[in-house]
Amino acid sequence: MVRLRVGCLLALASLFVPAAYAACVGTQTGDLAPMEELAFRDPAAALPRLATMLASSADMPIAHRAALHAISAEAARQMGFSRQAITEADAGLALLPGGEMSDLAVRMRTVRAVVSTNVGGIDAATVELTRIAEAIRERPLAYGCVLRDRGWLNFRDGNPDQALDDLLRSYSLLRRHASREEAMVAAGRLSMAQFSVRDYKQALDLVDETIAFFREQNAKIRLATALDRRANILKAAGRLDEALLAAEEALRIHDDIKDRVGTGLSQMRMCGVEIERNALPEAARWCDRAEETLSRTTGMDDNDYRTLAALRGRLYLALGKSKEAISQFDRAIAPGGAQPADDIAELYELRSRAYAAVGNYSAAFTDQGEYLRRMREQGTLDRIREVAQLRVQFENEQEKQKIALLEQDKKLAEEKLTSQMRTTQLVSIAGLTGLVTAFFLGYALLSHRRHRAELIRLAERDELTGLLNRRAIVRKAVEYLTRARESKGTLVIGLIDLDHFKSINDRFGHAVGDQLLQRFAAAMRTTLHTREVFGRYGGEEFLVLFPDTSLEEAKQSSERLRAYLKDQRLRIDDQEVTVTLSLGLSGYEAGDVLFDQVARRADIALYVAKTQGRDRVEIYHPSRHGGLASIASTSRQR
Ligand code: GH3
Ligand code: MG
Ligand code: MG
Repeated sequence: MVRLRVGCLLALASLFVPAAYAACVGTQTGDLAPMEELAFRDPAAALPRLATMLASSADMPIAHRAALHAISAEAARQMGFSRQAITEADAGLALLPGGEMSDLAVRMRTVRAVVSTNVGGIDAATVELTRIAEAIRERPLAYGCVLRDRGWLNFRDGNPDQALDDLLRSYSLLRRHASREEAMVAAGRLSMAQFSVRDYKQALDLVDETIAFFREQNAKIRLATALDRRANILKAAGRLDEALLAAEEALRIHDDIKDRVGTGLSQMRMCGVEIERNALPEAARWCDRAEETLSRTTGMDDNDYRTLAALRGRLYLALGKSKEAISQFDRAIAPGGAQPADDIAELYELRSRAYAAVGNYSAAFTDQGEYLRRMREQGTLDRIREVAQLRVQFENEQEKQKIALLEQDKKLAEEKLTSQMRTTQLVSIAGLTGLVTAFFLGYALLSHRRHRAELIRLAERDELTGLLNRRAIVRKAVEYLTRARESKGTLVIGLIDLDHFKSINDRFGHAVGDQLLQRFAAAMRTTLHTREVFGRYGGEEFLVLFPDTSLEEAKQSSERLRAYLKDQRLRIDDQEVTVTLSLGLSGYEAGDVLFDQVARRADIALYVAKTQGRDRVEIYHPSRHGGLASIASTSRQR
């Protein structure tokens, strides 16, 4: 009787408590779990031990050996030893049947894809991870692990929308289904993605969560990396004294564990923070030390040199040594680097100041132009980031509340459980408690679901127009894209931008603009087919998905919407207002993996519609429009 109830409670509690060490490598059931834990905490110490174990592994079961390779691959990757990671993953995969998708195999494939980006490029890796993710979608732990890496790749590839989406989902899946170690890695990456959309508060919250955990675990490399991130966020947020503290601690740890590359990077960070604090002699010392440290490693790459040059350029500029500053900026800006676009834009601005200071006004003028051009380009990015940021803020709040609730429940269940086991003589009371707890947990789960459904509804709608918001329509697009790929079906995407909307706002006021947006939403509901899905993509831009539709049919639908809108004479507050639209269409093509690929082409078609006089629908033609890729995104300010 009692045992039954305890079993019941355990089952209930297990809804909330992930397995003791449910890890991405997937050895949690075997006796290798401690090894995996060590590899996570201290990969440098784990690698030689793993090598020893592998050397005498000839008579171990095959799965065991494969797992050792998988753990080694993961540890090597963590240490930044790409080649070793690939070798280990290949060795492990060779032991398993081809095409296998066990957690172990998935992990090795993933590690392999991710560390091969230097060879095959990010796109190839993203394609591979998408393929893996789709094969294991039903397994939350493995799925969360793969999304974590795909999100990271998307982040590095400059797709903030996809990155945030993947990382957020990964974080929440791993919080529920994996050990905290794995969830914390997702938290760290999510924090970086949030940092990139300039959401410093959320980024800091997440990174602090990881710092607390890594400290508790004494996972030094990870702790130092997290502290570096904390320093970076604080620096960007202008909290310089705190930034300095975090950078100092990171430096101490890197130094302590003799991680030279890490030490060098931390020294560079110290230099950057000191420049911001206007402590220039200290800054110069740190930059020199960074160069010295890094030049003694084999890990210093071109980007490190550029970063260092950019720092020195700033330093010289602050010291009034303009000529030296220019030559440093030259090095930092030189083509071929992979630095974030907004950093580069700023470097042009800084170099232009240095040019002006030495009286070279024509060069200063050119650099200012370049800076402005890049900033304008960034305007588009910024808007995307803004929307992404709002979205993440919302979801993360939700996620946090949820997690807090689950953790409370978990604690409660655990407490009840221990007290119950200790007081076996109070069988009946304990039994009652069990029932109450079971009831409570069931209730919490239920009300939680209700709450969640409401939040999801709210999170998906645009407030002004009631249409699907950007996040929801993009998610739908990704879903339809996957479906089109799997069933070899068709999908057309239409991107709409209302014409001269700024001047409508200027002439009639923002409130009238808002009403027009609502009217336009109504026009879409009236004229588009029921199978067509649409939403507000941002501002006065809208996205339409035409599933299982040919480009010709989609064009007809679009023309109907265009003509309907043009004919509408709207009387708003005694004024007659008309508005037209421009629309770009692009079809899904075999090989498209990311929504961004199709959207980019629709965007080019839209750009063509705009330049050809507006109030038009244009279809993307690779032969005619292929060369417009860069122009469309720079010259049309969206
Ligand atoms: P174009 O034909 O080239 O698209 O010209 P445009 O003036 O429409 O240019 P653009 O698309 O760059 O400008 C969009 C304007 O839409 C800018 C902004 O003032 C306005 N807008 C964006 N969101 C809203 C909104 O929610 N309400 C109102 N009233 N205006 C908005
Ligand atoms: Mg417009
Ligand atoms: Mg626009």
